[in-house]
Amino acid sequence: MCVRRMAIAVSRPHKAPMPSAVAEAPADPLDEARAILRRTFGHAEFRGLQANVIAEVLAGNSAMAVLPTGGGKSVCYQIPSMMRPGLGLVVSPLIALMTDQVAGLQQSGVAAARLDSNIDPQEKADTWRRIEAGELDLLYVSPEGLMQPWMLERLARVPLALIAIDEAHCVSQWGHDFRPEYRMLGRLAELFPGVPRLAVTATADARTRDDIRAELHLEASPEFVDSFARPELVLSAERKRGSALKRVVELVAARPDRSGVIYAGSRDKTEQIAQALRDAGVPALAYHAGLERQLRSDRLEQFLQADAAVMVATIAFGMGVDKPDVRFVIHADAPASIEAYWQEIGRAGRDGDLAEGITLYGAADMSWALRRIGERDVDPVVKQAQTAKVRQLYALLDGTGCRAATVRRYFGEEGVEACGQCDLCTGRIDLSDATEAAQKALSAAHRLGGRFGRGRLVDHLLGKTKDVSDSEAALSTWGIGQELSASAWRDLVEQLLFEGLLREDPNDGRPLVGVGDADAVRAVFRGERRVAIQTRAEEPAGRVRKARKGRETLATAPSDKALFEALRAWRSREAKGQHVPPYVIFHDRTLAEIAAVKPGSRAALERVNGVGEGKLARYGAAVLEVVAGFAG
Ligand code: ADP
Ligand code: ZN
Repeated sequence: MCVRRMAIAVSRPHKAPMPSAVAEAPADPLDEARAILRRTFGHAEFRGLQANVIAEVLAGNSAMAVLPTGGGKSVCYQIPSMMRPGLGLVVSPLIALMTDQVAGLQQSGVAAARLDSNIDPQEKADTWRRIEAGELDLLYVSPEGLMQPWMLERLARVPLALIAIDEAHCVSQWGHDFRPEYRMLGRLAELFPGVPRLAVTATADARTRDDIRAELHLEASPEFVDSFARPELVLSAERKRGSALKRVVELVAARPDRSGVIYAGSRDKTEQIAQALRDAGVPALAYHAGLERQLRSDRLEQFLQADAAVMVATIAFGMGVDKPDVRFVIHADAPASIEAYWQEIGRAGRDGDLAEGITLYGAADMSWALRRIGERDVDPVVKQAQTAKVRQLYALLDGTGCRAATVRRYFGEEGVEACGQCDLCTGRIDLSDATEAAQKALSAAHRLGGRFGRGRLVDHLLGKTKDVSDSEAALSTWGIGQELSASAWRDLVEQLLFEGLLREDPNDGRPLVGVGDADAVRAVFRGERRVAIQTRAEEPAGRVRKARKGRETLATAPSDKALFEALRAWRSREAKGQHVPPYVIFHDRTLAEIAAVKPGSRAALERVNGVGEGKLARYGAAVLEVVAGFAG
């Protein structure tokens, strides 16, 4: 089996104690861990750095693990929790995330529960009884729930196997998703001194990683950082031109019968896009924090259960969602940072099959993001870091180098090669010099004194301003831009905004364009700095399929298709009956493998990836019956 993610950094800043148990115990604890991986989770082998992380925790040491989305972070703490004596505590920021994981574990026959504000008193009491009787292997809690004094007191009397801190980047204000309540988790080190702590996250640049270690007192613990590569993701980005709404509908219509997520910058926009998609016949739902709670959870459930549905959401829709078969993520508005980009795009293709990440962006998004940072009431140093993050994001989106490689380098990976499948690797970019036109646009913006928007600036250059005043018509820049079309001027203005040569003041939705960085502008006038316009060759439709480099697909052989569909129909009935998403029962991938192998016995079924002991006991007979129905 090929390991598609390689370790890039496993550092031990201070020597961690060698596990002394090794000398006495001849059996490698990893063998038992592997047996659990097979038996309980139905996976043949560890992947990426899972085995390294698990070995560290089994030796009783704390650690930090940065593994990509879908890389399998959860077994890194689930398996040690099951093997080590005592209760494994998992701190997680979202109830949706906990609910999903606990449901999945229970399906696999693992003794897991959660304590959160949604749990009724009866169930709570029962959970505490199981904790105190030592019957539970895993307990999921929120950070604020865990740090309540009575909770800490009660847990202090229970032996703990480990404490896992999921989404650990939330502890860092350099990260992209700082949550103040995570800061309290720093106290866990002194409260539970002998208990190994494992911080896990999917996205953290070097600075954020340092911060996580400092905040959680993991300075002396090893750090496992996996590659950020997601070879199943095909990335592309395009500047917004005209109506973004129309473009989104076009993109979705070109990807029929697939599940997707569309991120939009505001609640209103999610509603508008969802409506436009429904009008175009696409089953689309809007999702944002302004919706009533019950409606939100109904829509989430609808999305998770559907074989093809589109969710149009604000970033309120996210961390807890791991529908494995999301085939595309489209940003109708640019994300907030490269971390956010990678995490949001990363919700596509979690089953390992090919998926697309498409981003629409514009200079207006950038100005808006920069302005919001400017208005924030935070430390100037933090502001500076956040501004740099925004600039880096747009350098990625509007840049010319491989997108996947740029992201991986951003996270500190070295020796990264181009992905060969993003729009910049496969497409053609033509650069043409536009310095002279840029000089004209810059002087026009200067003469107009930052009082007008982009449209008026372009009209001025073309000499087409409606009801032009005498004073404006008398300016030397009036009508000097006849050589370019209006749309070419608009593109150039956008380019100048990205480069910071022009600046846009959002002005409450009626943005005004003015001259940007004075030194840079002067350099353009002197001809010391050149301005180039990019044109990207249009991608032919269907490129994605061709871009694949022999990776296996989920697509079942035509002869197995009917059985695959029958298995899905069975799974769908089962999921509805149990009120769980279908994928906690079996992933598509597992069903596809069953359809291909057509197991005739329990033993044969158990060899299929994703079928563990618990699921065999629960579903073995039913699955074998569906398969037998197709045998002849
Ligand atoms: P994340 O790192 O994003 O939290 P999860 O822990 O949810 O990822 O795992 C993602 C998917 O990968 C799950 O469906 C899980 O069952 C699967 N998985 C985890 N470990 C392995 C493995 N060693 N081999 C195959 N699949 C695995
Ligand atoms: Zn590329």
